[in-house]
Amino acid sequence: MHTDVRIIQLLMELRRQGVTDSDVLSALELTPRELFVPEVFQDRAYDNAALPIDCGQTISQPFIVAYMTQALELAPNMRVLEVGTGTGYQTAILARLAKRVYTIERHAALMAKAQERVKKLLLFNVEFRVSDGMRGWPGQAPFDRIIVTAAARENPPQELLNQLNIKGIIVIPIDRGGHGQVLVRIKRTAQGFQSADLLPVKFVPLLEGVAKSDGEAR
Ligand code: SAH
Repeated sequence: MHTDVRIIQLLMELRRQGVTDSDVLSALELTPRELFVPEVFQDRAYDNAALPIDCGQTISQPFIVAYMTQALELAPNMRVLEVGTGTGYQTAILARLAKRVYTIERHAALMAKAQERVKKLLLFNVEFRVSDGMRGWPGQAPFDRIIVTAAARENPPQELLNQLNIKGIIVIPIDRGGHGQVLVRIKRTAQGFQSADLLPVKFVPLLEGVAKSDGEAR
């Protein structure tokens, strides 16, 4: 099927699933997912499904990317921290909707490819860093928004909460052990943090430290 038809069908499906923010849908429309998907899965680039990538990781399902982006309530003047660059697909979407994106990945090999793809799309408002995203990016904090695309165990890393602006929002999958993973949105107020559960999800785990070799992490 022609790519244009596939992307339109995907956008219609996302709308049915509750992604109604037209800026978010436009950002997806402008970002060719086939650029981010491995060669062997090219024919599935516009399926509404997560797909395997290098280093035992996954590119998130388009619905989840769109849903998380919508939950962030981005504005064009915002500075966003992303933890878990992966392919850079979510990064590119964020770059279209925010002023500046700071993205952290623990696998150097994934980051090198992600950086190439984002540049290819002529998105120059992204800073890349190979590091442990659980520690955030102290030199650039505070952030208006933080998005984490790997699941934290039980609680969001305290460092990330510390690096959020007052009125800021963090969207993060939390692994509640026996209860599975849930996507959580936390708003910071002058008084503290307000947390709301959004929906059940399935992400790869948020792991401490930088990956030693690209064969690691499964
Ligand atoms: N948004 C990405 C999802 C990638 S999967 C995409 O759609 O392509 C999650 C990514 O988080 C993986 O690449 C994994 O290596 C990375 N990750 C896990 N723990 C991390 C940490 N502590 N710091 C930075 N990246 C981390």
